[in-house]
Amino acid sequence: MAVTRTIAPSHLSPLTPMKVIVLGAGIVGISTAWYLLEEGHEVTVVDRQPDAALETSFANGAQISVSFCEPWASKDAPLKVLKWLMRDDSPLLFRPRLDPHQWIWGLKFLTHCSDAAFARNVQQLVALGAYSHESLKQLVAQTGIAYDRLERGILHFFSTEKDYQSGAAAAELMRAHGVDRRVLDRDEVLKVEPALAAFGPHIHGGTFTPSDESGDARVFTQQLARLARERGVQFLYEHDVLGLDTAGGAISGVRVGCQRTGQRRTLKADQYVAAMGSFTAPLLRPLGVNLDIYPAKGYSATLRLKRPEAASVVSLLDDTRKIAISRLGDHIRIAGTAEMAGYDLSLDSATARVRCEALVKRYEELFPGVADTTEPNYWTGLRPSTPNNVPYIGRAARLPNLWLNAGHGTLGWTHGAGSGRALAELMSGKRPQLAFGFCGPELPQRPTQVALAT
Ligand SMILES: Cc1cc2nc3c(=O)[nH]c(=O)nc-3n(C[C@H](O)[C@H](O)[C@H](O)COP(=O)(O)OP(=O)(O)OC[C@H]3O[C@@H](n4cnc5c(N)ncnc54)[C@H](O)[C@@H]3O)c2cc1C
Repeated sequence: MAVTRTIAPSHLSPLTPMKVIVLGAGIVGISTAWYLLEEGHEVTVVDRQPDAALETSFANGAQISVSFCEPWASKDAPLKVLKWLMRDDSPLLFRPRLDPHQWIWGLKFLTHCSDAAFARNVQQLVALGAYSHESLKQLVAQTGIAYDRLERGILHFFSTEKDYQSGAAAAELMRAHGVDRRVLDRDEVLKVEPALAAFGPHIHGGTFTPSDESGDARVFTQQLARLARERGVQFLYEHDVLGLDTAGGAISGVRVGCQRTGQRRTLKADQYVAAMGSFTAPLLRPLGVNLDIYPAKGYSATLRLKRPEAASVVSLLDDTRKIAISRLGDHIRIAGTAEMAGYDLSLDSATARVRCEALVKRYEELFPGVADTTEPNYWTGLRPSTPNNVPYIGRAARLPNLWLNAGHGTLGWTHGAGSGRALAELMSGKRPQLAFGFCGPELPQRPTQVALAT
């Protein structure tokens, strides 16, 4: 069953309050639950973990990266991926498997490796990012949630001239999409983030977006979940979602299993939201809903700062290595790399060890003696990636009470609040104010339709 995307309609009528089950308590599921509550609906959240944000939203790069949002798929990507193929320390590692979903994903990725597709995808990601940033700011003002937020911008720095030149060209392109990305020389880079001084001689330049920010996605999500619970959202933690039942062309219930009692039962609601990150695709496949979401494994290391006064406060991207570095209170988070190798979450394989140790080694090169590298807290998560980086937000084809909020890939923290709000608005018959290709065959087509199939 194909998933079509259309621009949000302007004339859906507001609905009466509904009973909604949200599957998944990551940043996307919790944001969706929150905004559904705000719209006056009765919400239950189901998750297999004992709390919110314990899977991919747990220890990510912490960047609210509205302006640095280019999709992986670009004209230059196929050559880069080939060059990196099978290199354990490459930023993007494609490990071919006997998995048709991986190959289909890869082929669709290739169809987005053109300038035209890139421009269409960027347009949507910028729109969703701006909407999401606005939503996040309002949410923080409304709730007062504290999550080591730093509104200091995001700085990319380059340690080869070639990377600097291509970074400057990317900045030019993004400015054409209304993004304020500035090109900086080395001195300007060091002025924005003086903590980079020791590495200064290796820096060729940078690009900077002052309006971007950073903060702890796990802390934010868990706090929002607690507030939602206080306001009446029901949480069923430690419950596995086993499958969805259909009757009469709609979802009739969700089968869940309680991990503590072993009890299995079917939960019923008016509407269902699938927000289970990478696991959304396999869960919906038996229903004939085929989503191009494939896991891209990433790693992070969180280190305690020995010398907080010497550590960076601006969120950084070491662009040549594709590593994000964000300050979270008296800790530093270093995150990056992507491995297309299935649903494996191991941290003890040879590749995982190489990748984790590379993060810490690089941090020490950049900021010698600043953090305690003897006890790194390693973590791995599966980015729910689509071939064009554009998530599925909207209604599933032919199942009118099944809604999708999944496939946020590298930017789920950045796009979480806005995705939750937009879906809650759509479900409430409202038109979200952004030019985004929402899913839903029954939404009216418009001539301004943007990026279609992923
Ligand atoms: C290394 C790394 C760095 C990143 N850095 C950034 C960054 O700097 N900025 C940014 O914006 N994004 C970043 N991301 C991406 C971001 O973390 C993800 O896009 C985001 O967390 C996805 O959120 P989600 O709610 O869709 O998925 P998740 O957080 O994975 O939530 C899905 C939930 O569904 C539940 N679930 C799944 N299957 C079942 C089941 N069968 N039964 C019950 N429950 C189930 C899980 O327990 C989980 O709680 C990074 C990701 C990684 C891996």
